[in-house]
Amino acid sequence: MVVFGNSVRESSSFDTILFDLDDTLYPGNTGLSGALKRNIEDFLVEKCGFSETQAATLRVELFKTYGSTLAGLRVLGYNVDADDYHSVVHGRLPYDLIKADPQLRNLLNSISQRKIIFTNSDRIHAMKAMDRLGIADCFDQIICFETMNPNLSKATRPDEFPVVLKPSMEALKIALSVAEVDPRRTLFLDDNVRNIAAGKAVGLRTALVGKTMKTKEADYALEKVNNLAQVIPEIWVNGVEKGEPRISRTNSEIESSLAITAVGA
Ligand SMILES: [Mg+2]
Repeated sequence: MVVFGNSVRESSSFDTILFDLDDTLYPGNTGLSGALKRNIEDFLVEKCGFSETQAATLRVELFKTYGSTLAGLRVLGYNVDADDYHSVVHGRLPYDLIKADPQLRNLLNSISQRKIIFTNSDRIHAMKAMDRLGIADCFDQIICFETMNPNLSKATRPDEFPVVLKPSMEALKIALSVAEVDPRRTLFLDDNVRNIAAGKAVGLRTALVGKTMKTKEADYALEKVNNLAQVIPEIWVNGVEKGEPRISRTNSEIESSLAITAVGA
């Protein structure tokens, strides 16, 4: 039995789960991130006229200072179109490196709460990656680059609207507002320590993915997203979903139901 304020009921602690996508719903060692870095450098060479040596340094510097290469380029006055940038940086990725994950699909389908993707990536990339994983139909909503930057294409000069991305407070506030969630009853999964810290700062419950040790701002740490039922079984605790009481399941029941596709995975 859980007591919340003046209501007494047995319920999951969470109404909604926000999932980061890249390196959270698929592992960071697919080789995709190396290809991403090369594509960013190719963009700096092909579209902005930097040498290959300059591009390698600039990519790192812009990321450190502005959070992303695109954000940095626009602050510096380069009139880089976001769609053009994403078509190179994400559009040329070897998506076949992302493999279907039926265990993840089964896990997501066993969660009755609202499930929302919250990614810095553009919508086309998000859809392609989710499609490859076989989980494109498992979510209620996608909050992505375009959601956080609706006015970018209307800018009259590149620095008119700063690019908004996690871990900025602005990005987190947009997500909470678009998703219309109570942060105290929302679980946020991300592989990035700074994103998790930002999530905690706006009141979200936080789970750091890809790590065995929690950080100060992480309520949970899980080595991979497929360990969710073992690390945060309270997601599946009896609750009320769409007016229908849900069947309460024990931890071992959850694990055995998820094990159907876990064999050999
Ligand atoms: Mg990530």
